[in-house]
Amino acid sequence: MKVLVTGGAGYIGSHAVKRLIDENHEVEVVDNLSRGHRSAVPTDVPLHAIDIRDNDALANVLAGAGFDCTMHFAALASIEESVSHPLLYHSNNVQGTLSLLEAMQRADVPRMVFSSSAAIYGSPEKTPIREDAETLPINPYGRSKHVIEMALAKHSSQEDGFGFAALRYFNVAGAALDGSLGEDHEPETHLIPNTLKTALGTLDRLTLFGDNYATPDGTCIRDYIHVEDLADAHVRAMEALRPGDHRTYNLGMGKGISVLEIIEAARAVTGHDVPVEIGARRPGDPDELWADPSLIAQELGWRARITDLHTMIESAWNWMRLHPTGYADD
Ligand code: NAD
Repeated sequence: MKVLVTGGAGYIGSHAVKRLIDENHEVEVVDNLSRGHRSAVPTDVPLHAIDIRDNDALANVLAGAGFDCTMHFAALASIEESVSHPLLYHSNNVQGTLSLLEAMQRADVPRMVFSSSAAIYGSPEKTPIREDAETLPINPYGRSKHVIEMALAKHSSQEDGFGFAALRYFNVAGAALDGSLGEDHEPETHLIPNTLKTALGTLDRLTLFGDNYATPDGTCIRDYIHVEDLADAHVRAMEALRPGDHRTYNLGMGKGISVLEIIEAARAVTGHDVPVEIGARRPGDPDELWADPSLIAQELGWRARITDLHTMIESAWNWMRLHPTGYADD
């Protein structure tokens, strides 16, 4: 298939580009490079450095190009930033997606695989979380994903032939197992890269946001999914999409891992100490959030293959050791 990957210069998008190429799909990337890295995109993949809110520029990329699908990763993705800049998140994520949908409609692009998030569930009362759990997002980032899912559902019900899959990721982690790609966010808000930066000495200490949760070791429990497994799920979802489809899948390992378990695993993998300071709880952090990913297993036969925490952390560590300043070109 011919696929337009928005946000393909970012962390997850670049791994999806790699996977698509490995499976002989034809790929082009749209990314405004606000958070992504030019060198994360292979030089022989066309990179359109435009903002998805620029509807004319997007229409030019799509017009007559014969794309079969978009994989839509382009978004701002920090919960903390969304709380301080809610309008920015609405504009970038919601308005950006509506612009993309409109350009796709004009160019007759029939499918989209959309990067949704577990943030859409808010603080659910029950874990593991199934797709039919209530969606009650508690921050502007989660709300932006929720509004987009609703817009996509409406669009697929009205627009003949348009099918989409909303993939609700839990915590994405790790790096390409061949060492070619990794995670480079500025600022970094994710636990595993920050733990590894502390092991490497780039950060003095890791702040642990609360150690008095109602969990066995007092730290929050989350579900982690390796970025290569995630890329694989995207390709499977894309290949399964039929006209009019509206699919929603949780993507996680289906098991909960505590913050302390991550820190211990990082100490073991790196052989370095990870100094920790206990900070205050972050507002709205539930005790436990982990997925029931059985629906995508039943319907598409997809399961996370990298389920060993050490392998996941090792892949991120290998990339970070070789790229201590990330994609240093920009
Ligand atoms: P990222 O910041 O590394 O990648 C996002 C990319 O989109 C960047 O390259 C950025 O430059 C680009 N972009 C942002 N706004 C744009 C715009 N208006 N026009 C064009 N390009 C734009 O983020 P990521 O971690 O790779 O996340 C990718 C997607 O997955 C996002 O939609 C995010 O919400 C979702 N997600 C991520 C996680 C996670 O754990 N990383 C979890 C759940 C959902």
